[in-house]
This record gives sequence, structure tokens and C-alpha cells, in this order.
Amino acid sequence: APQVPGPHSFRRGMTADGHAVPLLANIGGPRDVESALAYGAEGVGLFRTEFLFLGRAAAPSAAEQAEAYRAVFEAFPGGRVVVRTLDAGADKPLAFLPPSGVEPNPALGERGLRLLRRHRAVMNVQLAALAAAATGTSAKAQVMAPMVATAEEAEWFALACRTAGLASPGIMIEVPAAALRAADLVGAVDFLSVGTNDLTQYALAADRQVGSVAGLQDPWHPAVLDLVAATASAASGAGKECGVCGEAAADPVLACVFVGMGVTSLSMAAPALPAVRAALIRHTLAQCAAAASAARSARSAVDARAAAEAALSRT
Ligand code: PEP
Ligand code: MG
Repeated sequence: APQVPGPHSFRRGMTADGHAVPLLANIGGPRDVESALAYGAEGVGLFRTEFLFLGRAAAPSAAEQAEAYRAVFEAFPGGRVVVRTLDAGADKPLAFLPPSGVEPNPALGERGLRLLRRHRAVMNVQLAALAAAATGTSAKAQVMAPMVATAEEAEWFALACRTAGLASPGIMIEVPAAALRAADLVGAVDFLSVGTNDLTQYALAADRQVGSVAGLQDPWHPAVLDLVAATASAASGAGKECGVCGEAAADPVLACVFVGMGVTSLSMAAPALPAVRAALIRHTLAQCAAAASAARSARSAVDARAAAEAALSRT
């Protein structure tokens, strides 16, 4: 029988039939915590740490970083807080962390984890700061790497995290190769988190910073849906969690589609949380699965959205 949520559980994300889907916030620093809490975030699914590093001559110290991380962990007692290691390069360049050469296509160059492997000391200071901040907090602190393409990279990052005392490493899936072969990557880590902004850019070969190709940057494209579905099913096959933390999770219809594919949590800009929460509570998991399957049978982004909406409106 459908479970009717009580007043307290109403703030937790769930489908009409009581399938829990934690609804988390994307934040860019401690100053975003208040808004995340106000919109009822159950935790943080993506803490972008670039803010600490921007506009500086050198990386911040471990102590300064730990203070910022601790402020966020302490705001979510008992909740999950997923911190992403520095995602520099491409659309987020940092003067003191240059790639090794000239890059005609920075989105395809040294960015994210690739850049951290070149500047290993910077990553190790960040991991040490995170381990220090996580000690003694009741938040479930987790760390994930951006821009992972191969199983070897996932294994390298997981080992670095565990060596630093961070027991629950994860990786972002934002490269099509990683999505298609997610089963090869997931074994090394505790969880996956799909970054649909970059995954769409790379699936459609359309630079997210180039306005003239913005029409192709559409996460409803069935190729993107297939990549998310492949990732979610690889994670579930391995008994691991798979979230979505790209902006696509903020679309209430697409959020239902992701849940129907087996995505286990959704993270988004906080103001989008109420509409996504309201969409989930109105549909059963079976309706979400039907919407996912209808969307993936479509041949275009426009048709996929229409098919998902039609499926969700059927009872
Ligand atoms: C993404 O790529 O979807 C993502 C969440 O990361 P960012 O937008 O910071 O690249
Ligand atoms: Mg990204």
C-alpha cells in the first residue's frame, strides 16, 4: 500500500509509493549552506571547492581549507556531504595550476583529476584538509573526483583518498567513456555521481562555453539518457549508489526519469528542490521507470521530454 508521508518525512525526497530519493544541494561554499537548509536539502551532493582557490596566487593552506569544509559538515549533522576535489582547467582555469602546454581545446585537455595528478601536492593538501575536517563531525563526509575517464584513474584516486584517511571515495561520471564502462570503474569506489553538464557536452561534442552550439547542450538527448542509464545500472549491479549532480537533476520531469533509471539521489541548486520534491511525491517508482523507458525510446530531446511527460501523466 502506498505510504503516506507524515509532516516530518515530507521534507525527505520520496516517490508516491515511498521509495526514498535523498534530495541534496549543490553548493559553492559555506555561504550557500543557509539557502540549502532553507529549501530543505537533506545534505550536499556536490560541494564545488573551486571558490577556495579562485583569484589567488597559490593554493590555500590545509588549515584554511579545513575550516571551510568543517563549516559545511557541521551544518548537516547526520547528513551526507559530498565534497568534490578541485576541478580546475577548461571552464575553471587557475593561474597557479597551469596545464603543461598550450591547449587548443581546454575542455579536452588537462582538467579536473588530470590536473590534480600533475599537481599532486595540491591534491594531497586538499585530501588532508578534508580528512582533518571530517574527523569528529557527525556528517557523512565523502570525497569525489571530477573528470574521471578510466578505471586506472578511479583506482588511483581511491587509493589516494584511502591513504589520506578518507574511507568513502567516489567519482564523477562526466565522460562518456566512463559512463559506458562504469562497471569497470565502480569497483574501486563507494559511489558514482553523474555530472550531466559535462556529460552532455562530451556526448554531443558541443562545448558548454560556446553559445552557438548551446542548442546541442540538452540533457534530454536520448544519447545522454542512455549514458545515465548505463551508469545507474552499473552502480546498482555492484551494489553502489549513483547520484546525479548536474543541472539536469533540477528539471522535475527529468528528475523522475533519472529515478526511474535507478539513480539513488539527486543534487541541484537549492531553489530547485521544492519542485523536484513535489514531482517525485506525485509519481510512483513504476511510473518513473515507465517515463525513463518512454524517453529513451524517443529519437530527439524534444520527443524524449514529451514521451516522459505523457508517461508520467498516465496512472
Ligand atoms: C557537471 O559537469 O555536471 C557538474 C556537476 O560539474 P560542473 O558543472 O561543476 O562542471
Ligand atoms: Mg563537471
